[in-house]
Amino acid sequence: MLPPVLIVEDDTKLARIVKAYLEGADYRTTLATTVSEALQKAEAELPLAVILDLGLPDGSGEELCQSLKELGDFPVIMLTAKSSEEERIAGFALGADDYMVKPASPRELVCRLRAVLKRYERNTSAPDSLLSCNGGALVLDSLRHQIAIESHVISVTPTEFKLLLTLASFPGRTFTRDELVSRALGYQFDGYDRSIDAHIKNLRQKIEKDPRNPKYLKTVYGVGYLFAGERDAL
Ligand code: CA
Repeated sequence: MLPPVLIVEDDTKLARIVKAYLEGADYRTTLATTVSEALQKAEAELPLAVILDLGLPDGSGEELCQSLKELGDFPVIMLTAKSSEEERIAGFALGADDYMVKPASPRELVCRLRAVLKRYERNTSAPDSLLSCNGGALVLDSLRHQIAIESHVISVTPTEFKLLLTLASFPGRTFTRDELVSRALGYQFDGYDRSIDAHIKNLRQKIEKDPRNPKYLKTVYGVGYLFAGERDAL
């Protein structure tokens, strides 16, 4: 099951229309009406993409866009009443992937969402798509499916790669085994599956200096795992 598209919009009538169109196009949706609710939902649900209204009651959508980009790699489409060129450019500078001026056609919004998601897929498999952590000490190369530790390429399985990429894309966020199975392995967790634990154990042997005292792949007891490295700024 794909993660939902997060609609951040305080105009509930408009939010309902956007939701109906997205669901009609087979996307799941989740709704937030404030900046704080949006951040909370983004962290909990790791949305596929965010449709972001700039005028929100408890803060600016611009700031929210920045916070979202710090939280993870979410595609963001800004939706706003502002229409000047400067404001659009400012939106892109904050990391928005696309920009629509209200009143926006919901059908066009769906098309733009598809286009943004497609670009994202392409970007994550582009040759320069490297995720670098801890000052380059750990680098994930999405094209070659390779991991480098202190510039030494190590060999990992495709599953191990996807697992580490999922965790490292959201540093500090705890993932349950359920979330890791569906995101990294692509099937539904049955509650008894301990394969994630085996993969994490193997990954630790490969990437940690001391696998019993891991620096990157931490166990969150009773919950799951988190990546404790720091992503380097591009
Ligand atoms: Ca608004």
